[in-house]
Amino acid sequence: MNDLHDIVIIGGGLVGSSLAIALEGSGLRVALVEAARPQIAAQPSYDERNLALARASINALSALGVWREVEQPATPIERIHISRRGGFGSMQLDAKELGLPEFGAVLPARELGNALLHRLDACRALERIAPAQLTAIESHDDAIGLSVLADGTSRQLRTRLLVGADGTESFVRNHFGIGADRFDYAQSALVTTLTCERPLHGQAFERFTDSGPLALLPLGTHRAGLVLTVRSAEAESTAALDDSAFIALVHERFGYRLGRFSRPGKRKPYPLVRMLASVLTAPRMVLIGNAAQTVHPLGAQGFNLGLRDALTLAELLIEAQGQAADPGDAELLSRHAARRRPDREATTAFSHDLVRLTRNDFPPLRWLASLGLATLDQLPPLKRRIALRGMGFRGDVSRLGLSP
Ligand SMILES: Cc1cc2nc3c(=O)[nH]c(=O)nc-3n(C[C@H](O)[C@H](O)[C@H](O)COP(=O)(O)OP(=O)(O)OC[C@H]3O[C@@H](n4cnc5c(N)ncnc54)[C@H](O)[C@@H]3O)c2cc1C
Repeated sequence: MNDLHDIVIIGGGLVGSSLAIALEGSGLRVALVEAARPQIAAQPSYDERNLALARASINALSALGVWREVEQPATPIERIHISRRGGFGSMQLDAKELGLPEFGAVLPARELGNALLHRLDACRALERIAPAQLTAIESHDDAIGLSVLADGTSRQLRTRLLVGADGTESFVRNHFGIGADRFDYAQSALVTTLTCERPLHGQAFERFTDSGPLALLPLGTHRAGLVLTVRSAEAESTAALDDSAFIALVHERFGYRLGRFSRPGKRKPYPLVRMLASVLTAPRMVLIGNAAQTVHPLGAQGFNLGLRDALTLAELLIEAQGQAADPGDAELLSRHAARRRPDREATTAFSHDLVRLTRNDFPPLRWLASLGLATLDQLPPLKRRIALRGMGFRGDVSRLGLSP
């Protein structure tokens, strides 16, 4: 009976850790099970990728006490330039012109991971079980039984609510037989950093080319985080290019708007897939983050969206705890799914359509995409609406996302 938890979260990635922190102080008995060692170098998603964090995410991370643990200053995104190679249209989003302080900020995932780990260390009521792998699940009416393998020893847990925050290939989702709609973009994102001859002044760039999109995110004044999309078949050979050949390729795609590039870091390829779980819940179980939906990184929405899953769920669970209600209650879970539906549908569709539109080789559609960018550039109210949605203020925003 001792091992009965209110909530067991499987997966201590960016989203699962955020949920555990949001539940601290709630009085709920929570455990966080993570396969990797709780060290920055061991966690697969706390890596060199650079995260564009929406304003609502930064608000929430501040309210959760995570943001103050970030050691390296995040770089604010003040302007976003969107263009198409070989197209005539381009669009410039300027936060100040739209009456906004900034769109968000860029932070390496490793830095955010470090801050989350520090913040987790201060969560005295949370039981952290790591490194430990969930290996089996058994459902009962009043609880879910879990087998967790830690240090070669199997441990049994019981929980009133199981949260699957275990990533795209979620063991939890598969166990419950929840289908996943998958789309393989046949592309990989190569992630690295570069030095730019000209200062970025808080400007981010998204550039669409026939060989795939490219994004540059400001990291301080002269450094930029690069996401270069290549066909999957070319990912390994492009990552293995020597520095000068790699830089020549980036110039070919991006041009010389920022002067010459130099000092590229290590290149790491990520295969790009879209995955959408057919439902978010099963009896006494809910999926959040990449386990619920995985999106193309082009729109920089994955963590921002997953964090909003975690915040909404935390809000409902804390409210239920105040009324001494069962955290695994079916009605609570269906309210969570209903609250997440509009944001989830809109954000996953936005990320997918962006990639499809910008990949289109059919000349009239390319022309339309250019025209769309040129027209949008002339419509400040529409630009403001798009910007606010990109900043994470979409649909039913959790209170933590609204707090400054
Ligand atoms: C190149 C790239 C750039 C990106 N850029 C952005 C961006 O700019 N902005 C943005 O918002 N998002 C971005 N994203 C998306 C973002 O990184 C992900 O959405 C986010 O990391 C998902 O976090 P998660 O915690 O849901 O899943 P994961 O990070 O996958 O974490 C899952 C965790 O579960 C653990 N686990 C799995 N199975 C088990 C098990 N059986 N037992 C115990 N533990 C288990 C794993 O060890 C892992 O730590 C980007 C992604 C990529 C690839």
